[in-house]
Amino acid sequence: MTLISKILLRWYTKNGRVLPWRVSPKDLESGQTPDPYKVWVSEIMLQQTTVKTVIPYFQKFIEKWGSIDKLSHASEGEVLAFWAGLGYYARGRNLLKCAKELRDRFNSKIPSDKKNLLGLPGIGEYTASAIRSIAFGEKEVVIDANIERVICRLFKIEKPIQQSKKDIKECASQLFPEFQCGDLAQALMDFANSICKPKNPFCSQCPVSSLCLSFKWNLVESIPAKLTKKNKPTKKGYVFFAILKPNKFLLERRPSKGILGGLLGFPTTKWDVEKNAPSFPFKANWFYTERVVTHQFSHFKLELEIVFGETEYSKFDNSKYLVAERLNFDILSLPTLMRKVYAKADSVFDATLNSNSVT
Ligand code: SF4
Repeated sequence: MTLISKILLRWYTKNGRVLPWRVSPKDLESGQTPDPYKVWVSEIMLQQTTVKTVIPYFQKFIEKWGSIDKLSHASEGEVLAFWAGLGYYARGRNLLKCAKELRDRFNSKIPSDKKNLLGLPGIGEYTASAIRSIAFGEKEVVIDANIERVICRLFKIEKPIQQSKKDIKECASQLFPEFQCGDLAQALMDFANSICKPKNPFCSQCPVSSLCLSFKWNLVESIPAKLTKKNKPTKKGYVFFAILKPNKFLLERRPSKGILGGLLGFPTTKWDVEKNAPSFPFKANWFYTERVVTHQFSHFKLELEIVFGETEYSKFDNSKYLVAERLNFDILSLPTLMRKVYAKADSVFDATLNSNSVT
């Protein structure tokens, strides 16, 4: 075990957060074991959602569905209704699918081996490693976005994270010990949250500052390096904002896989590198607005031109499309990109409502 790992484990024993899915190092020593079900549910909820937001949802979830078996008998509607405040619905959908598979194939137990875990819906490399190390005490190198930041700083990895995955993994492998892997993963998560924060880390209170290469070389401010805009490709496409007079518009539920998977939004073309004439998603009186919404994703910049449409067509596939009322629409139900589209399209909406025809 490296000196950094030892110090961080000691720090975690004293300063680790008390979380409802967690068993502290002290309790582990006294014989308590983590509940793999709770570890799994918490890891899924924590994907793209903060600990603070997750805690009350997690507690209510466990009260409602206290076991894999109970969860496996829930309906998709029930789980998604519960998931409403957490967003990223694909996670809720996969959680239920996964519970059914666990019931049918694993006797309602979470398997501890990696191959079986990776074959389950919604469980990728990070989640499988986190479950194995935290719930089963297996040796794993657990790396999430926050741990990546800490590793880059400790080991002075100067290229952007997106270009340093291999180096980060190699450096992280040095830290994760044979035993107490789960504790170290959780130590790193808490340390990233309270000391080695994204902005203005508390280096003066950091227990490993004397071993941190970025601190030594005065590079903390610049690590991890940001991907410069010029390194990012630009993808272009069209987004379709269709109104149904007098005051409604159309949303779609995006496919569960891929970027913004499972979220609400406006229909778009593929986000191709080259802009092409779009194929329209359904019949409408479409016109180009030349209004472009730009959005930065971590790996690329997206430019979507808004195509506005008015339609009386009503045979929409209800499993895909949703008619929204403009007057009581909650823009917060949309991801940021789609909020930008709504904000930009809204004035065209007004102009269209005030005219008799769409040209
Ligand atoms: Fe992070 Fe600063 Fe500690 Fe380095 S010294 S690990 S940058 S908090």
